[in-house]
Amino acid sequence: TSFGFKEVREEEKSRLVGNVFTNVASNYDLMNDLMSGGLHRLWKERLVSKLNPFPGMKHLDVAGGTGDVAFRILDSINSVGKRAMRDIQDDNRLDETQIFVCDINPNMLNVGKKRAQERGLGGDKSLIWVEGDAEALKFEDESMDGYTIAFGIRNVTHIEKALSEAHRYDYYSFSVIPAVGQLVAGDRESYQYLVESIRRFPSQEKFASMIVDAGFQKVEYENLVGGVVAIHSGLKF
Ligand code: SAM
Repeated sequence: TSFGFKEVREEEKSRLVGNVFTNVASNYDLMNDLMSGGLHRLWKERLVSKLNPFPGMKHLDVAGGTGDVAFRILDSINSVGKRAMRDIQDDNRLDETQIFVCDINPNMLNVGKKRAQERGLGGDKSLIWVEGDAEALKFEDESMDGYTIAFGIRNVTHIEKALSEAHRYDYYSFSVIPAVGQLVAGDRESYQYLVESIRRFPSQEKFASMIVDAGFQKVEYENLVGGVVAIHSGLKF
């Protein structure tokens, strides 16, 4: 069959994206390791270190999937928190930390919840799992200190809409997909679609300018592995 991006109607897009991630949810983490040779771990570490999360932070991780980025954010906060244990105020703030994992696909979230339990993470209500669309988030304006979307922006139908949603919150930072990252889908149609969506994703410069257009300041990006992956970030003042 010939199945090209052009023929994909917008209504089709969420269905195809849905199929891909429903098919792979249970193997997603293993697949990530295989596809990137384990490098996604370093990329996510880098993302979190740039984000520089703090005790008491309210953070929204969109397209959060199985929680990989959220777990790292929590780990980072907890280790910062431990260092600050002497300071009773920081200790209190640690209890107020809330990391929201938002994903359009409940299967991914369910795998994530199970992983969190296995790791003994989030039982203290610091992890909140929310089904939702990056293009229409159900959180109030200015209700977050941070926003990330890792390997997820290319999946949304209208990038500008997702960016303008991101701008409703405070700080913003995210990474884009590696070209190798998607030899994943169980069925050909969805797979074909994803390959096209990666190919068509705007260049680093263009994407940075879209982030500026959405109203963010101090927009920058860092190429990793020679630009196979990039972390874009911006601030809202
Ligand atoms: N951020 C995770 C990571 O880096 O391991 C998961 C990335 S995975 C490649 C992309 C995720 O985006 C999937 O879990 C998918 O369900 C989700 N997704 C796709 N379209 C979305 C949308 N419009 N809104 C929210 N999540 C979406």
